[in-house]
Order: sequence, then C-alpha cells, then structure tokens
Amino acid sequence: MNKIDTERQKEIQQAEELLFAGPQALGFAKGLFHGHFVSDWVMPYPRLLPAQQTELDQTLAELREFLDAKLDPAAIDRQADIPREVIDGLGRVGVLGMTAPKDFGGRGFTQMANCQVLEEIGSRCGSTSVFVNAHHSIGIRALLLFGTHEQKQTWLPKLVTGEQLGAFALTEREAGSDAANVQMTARPSEDGSHFILNGEKRYITNAAIAQVLTVMARTPVPNSDKTAITAFLVTPEMPGFEMLEKRMPKMGIRGTATGRFALRDVKVPRENILGKLGKGLKVALTVLDFGRTTFGACCTGAAKTCLRLAVEHANTRRQFNKTLGNFHLVKKKIARIAADAYAMDAMTTITASLIDRGLEDYMLETAMLKVFTTERLWEIINDAFQIYGGSAYFVDLPLERMVRDARINQIGEGSNEVLTSFIALVGMRGPGMEFKEIYDTMLKPSRQGIGRAWTAGMNRLGAAVRIPDVPVRSAELRSFANQLARLIWRFNIAVNRSLIAYREPILDMQLVQERIAGAAMELFASTSVLSRWDAEMQFAQRNGQSAAKTNRAADLFLRQSFRRIRSFLAGLNDNDDKAILAAGDSALDSP
Ligand SMILES: Cc1cc2nc3c(=O)[nH]c(=O)nc-3n(C[C@H](O)[C@H](O)[C@H](O)COP(=O)(O)OP(=O)(O)OC[C@H]3O[C@@H](n4cnc5c(N)ncnc54)[C@H](O)[C@@H]3O)c2cc1C
Repeated sequence: MNKIDTERQKEIQQAEELLFAGPQALGFAKGLFHGHFVSDWVMPYPRLLPAQQTELDQTLAELREFLDAKLDPAAIDRQADIPREVIDGLGRVGVLGMTAPKDFGGRGFTQMANCQVLEEIGSRCGSTSVFVNAHHSIGIRALLLFGTHEQKQTWLPKLVTGEQLGAFALTEREAGSDAANVQMTARPSEDGSHFILNGEKRYITNAAIAQVLTVMARTPVPNSDKTAITAFLVTPEMPGFEMLEKRMPKMGIRGTATGRFALRDVKVPRENILGKLGKGLKVALTVLDFGRTTFGACCTGAAKTCLRLAVEHANTRRQFNKTLGNFHLVKKKIARIAADAYAMDAMTTITASLIDRGLEDYMLETAMLKVFTTERLWEIINDAFQIYGGSAYFVDLPLERMVRDARINQIGEGSNEVLTSFIALVGMRGPGMEFKEIYDTMLKPSRQGIGRAWTAGMNRLGAAVRIPDVPVRSAELRSFANQLARLIWRFNIAVNRSLIAYREPILDMQLVQERIAGAAMELFASTSVLSRWDAEMQFAQRNGQSAAKTNRAADLFLRQSFRRIRSFLAGLNDNDDKAILAAGDSALDSP
C-alpha cells in the first residue's frame, strides 16, 4: 500500500469507529440506499400531542407579541448588534432553553415544537435566528446531551433563561470543513485535576457575549502517542482566555457577534469535560445534527416570508397594464417558491420527529435537511428578489438583507459540498459492505464467509427485484406513491451499479456522489411532502371537508422532484464529468 492508500485506510477506520459504532435500527434515509421504504419513521405524518400543541400555541402567541413589539431586524442589521432587551425577552418567553428539561428551568419542548419556534424567528430575522441557534441548538447542546446531572445542575439554570449565553467553538484556521483537524491542545496537569488548553478558535458565533463556551481541543490518548478531541466547558474569566476580535465585520447576519479568541495556558478543571475523554468529535457531530435541524426550521421561516412578499408584490405592482402575477415567468417563480416552502416545512417536521421518537442515527436526514433547505432558500430569495425588480436592491425592503443573511447557510455547520459527499458515502456504506462481503468471499472462500456473502447477495438481489410499498392512506395519492416507490427501486439499482462499476475509487468521485446524494435528498423531500399531504387529506375527510381540493404546491413539488430524481439518475450514465474535470485541472494548472 502506498502512503495515500494507508492514509485513506486510516481515515476510513476513524470514520467507521466514529459513525458506525454498535448496531442501530435502520433509519429512513439509510433504508433508501438499501432500496427499502422504512415507512414507520415517516408515515403517518408526525403530530404533536394535544397538550404539547396547546403549550406551543401559547408560546408562539407570546413570542409573536414580543417580536412584533421589540424585534427590529433592519435596526439589528444596521447597528450590527442584537439589543440586550431582545435577548432578555427571548429568555423570558423561554426560547433560550426551549428543549432543556423543566428540572433545570427549561421548557422541555420537543424538537418538533422547537422547530416551530425557530421557524417563527427565522421568518423575521436571520441574525436573531443564528444567535438563538448558536446559543441553544449548538452552544448548550453538548451540555444537554452529554453533561452529567451535576454539570447540568451547575451550568444550565442561568443558560436556559439567557442570564448567561452559550457558544460552540470548533472551527480553527486549520479545522474548517476538516473538523477533525482541531489543533487546540489540552494537556493534563500532573495531578490530573485539570487540563491546560492552548490554541486559537475563529468564526465563533456569540464568542464575545457568551459566558460559557463548549470548546473542542485535542487531548493525549492514555498509553499511546495518539491524540483525540475532547469537549470542554470554558468560561471567559478563566486566566489566559484572550478575546482577539469580538465582532469580525461581515456581509450578513450582522447582528451576531462572530469572534476570534485564544486560549493561552488556560487551566480547565477535569469536571468541565463534556462526555468522555477523547470522544469530543462524536460530541461535536451529534451537536451539529441538532443545529442542522433548526437550520431547516429557520430557512423554512425565511422561505415563507419570501412567499408572502413575492405574492404581495406580484398582486399589486402593475406593468404593461397588468399586475406582475399575470406574467407566466413571474407565476412560475411564485409556484416554485410555494412548492419548495411546503417541502421544506414537511422535511423539517419529519426530521425533528425522528429525533423526538428516539431514532438513534439521524445524521443522514439532518445533513439532507441542511443541504436541501439552504440551497432552496438561496434560490427562493433570488426569485423573490427578481420579482421585486430594482426595488429589492434598496435597504428599505428586507430582501437585500435576506440575501446577505442567507449566504452563510450553505457554508456554516458543514459546507454543502462536504455534506453532499457525506450523504452519498454514508448512505452507500451499507450496500457497499454487502458487495464487499460478496467480493471478498469470491477471492478467498471460507465457510463462514460464504454464509455471510449469501445473506448479503440475497439482500442485494431482494432490493433489485422488489419495488417497495409506499403506504399512503388517501386513494387520490396512490399514483404519486407508486411513482415514488418505483424511483426508490431505480435509485437502489443505480447505487448498486455505481458501487460495482467504481468500487473503492468512488470514495473520491464527488461528481458521482453529488448525483446520488441529490437523488436521495429529493426522495426524502418527496416522501415528506407525500406524508404531509396525505395527513392533510385524511384530516379534511374526517372533518367532512372536500378532500378533492388539490394542494397545488404539493402536487407541483412532487412532479418537479420526481423529474429531478430522474435527471440525477440519468446523469450517472450520460454526463460531461471527464470534460469538467479536465477543464478544472487545466484552469487550476494555469498560472
Ligand atoms: C458567520 C459565521 C459564523 C460561524 N459560527 C461558527 C460557530 O459558532 N462555531 C464554529 O465552530 N464555527 C462557526 N463557523 C465556521 C463554519 O462552520 C466554517 O466556516 C465552515 O465549517 C467552513 O469552514 P471554512 O470556512 O474553514 O472553509 P473551508 O474548510 O476552507 O472550505 C471552503 C470551501 O471549500 C469547499 N470544500 C472544503 N472541503 C471540501 C470537500 N471535502 N469536498 C468538496 N468541497 C470542499 C467547500 O465549498 C467550502 O465551502 C462560522 C462561520 C461563519 C462565516
């Protein structure tokens, strides 16, 4: 094996240990890659319990009243600051401890309910939603998920009210997309009572306004020369904590304080370790799963605002003696915004419900949600902007701010390129392992190996001959359900073919991965839409309403999503990949 192969094997082994430890129930997204439709996770469409819904409705009413009175997104953007009054108000409504247990002063909300709250904030102000995400979705998440009872008792009560604020500090100069490459060190003291932290973090939301930061640093692995990442709770008054830049001036979400800080021989007590020593990367990735879910909710809120703004303008602005909405090219944009906003909402709700219902492994769904909703929001804002024409360019309307605010979404919490590759590779791992079993046995037959290879072969064969069942309850949706089932079957065949054709080199073939991940995301989005529409029809039927009234947005989304899936799959065989790579190489090589 050459050096690159050895490195690659090491990376794969590390990822395996990190992501695939222990047996887990087959989730929905992983099921797609096996050609299954694991309906229990997605159908019927999830709903809050009546008591939870009542509590949510009351909270939303209170939140809206507060935001109407006190939140001024344009002023926040202009002054590049979220006023303390707004933060205190969010704390009073419970937003800053929404999913924290009631025992520690939180509201004990489910992720589904929390997403509704974030959608409301995201519909109004990008800065405020990123601030809340940084504090609640990721800043205090490691404490909520991995903290001991004592740690929670010590730290949470002030954090859930907003008396103190949280931040999540992973990124460094050398550890951006490559999150595992954290260089900040944490050396144990001789008596083992504390760790001494050294290094710098950058691009950290809330860094300069937080009283508690979850910081990722590299600790020695006992009895070896290796190191591993560990999560620590750090406070800014610890000697050696140096704020290098409190508010890095930036393009969008200007109200948030994005900072840089250094830790120079900062002594952090051992009791401040979150989770197990050396297991910080797992902590970080799990935390980001939650961040990506509320990202979806915030993007959904912003998408709904764009829809409202676009409709208002298209119905009132007249040119050529007609309102703009009469022109088909405008109508098309509005139709697409409505369809995508419906899908974003459905996908967010289903992803949040997976967490609430205790699916252990939802990393694929959260990654899909993040990529799907952030890409769609970018297009949606662009379309709404276009409908407004020149007026959108001026600061008296919110669209120019929304464009600036939305641009971070495709980069933060895992850039969409990294996540796209991740979705394809993690998804293909299951069927890939089955093929490997078969291949290894062919090369080196053994009794045990043949047994395993037989099972793997039957699984692959089963998925190849069986079209899965997509169990909708409304007869009107059967045709869509059948089309979806057939596309899942075709997707599975395409995955199998790619694995057989490319084998291990597929790990580096991102253009192939992009199509596979793209198709998988559309399958998840279509499923979410179908599930939601089915539930709406059932509800209408139960209440004696005419179920026949077609949901035009859902109808359009399914048609267009199915078209995109077919196009992704066709692109696996008919593409310009060689020319793209050659042109890229040529440009990269030119001085
Ligand atoms: C406003 C703001 C707030 C932030 N808040 C936080 C925070 O609170 N906490 C925190 O820890 N971090 C935070 N970040 C950091 C953010 O998560 C990183 O910016 C992000 O992970 C990308 O890292 P990078 O900027 O170093 O880009 P790089 O890693 O240099 O990547 C640049 C680009 O290269 C491409 N790329 C990289 N790797 C690959 C690959 N394997 N395959 C294909 N393409 C690839 C992608 O297009 C990517 O966008 C924040 C950043 C910003 C801008």
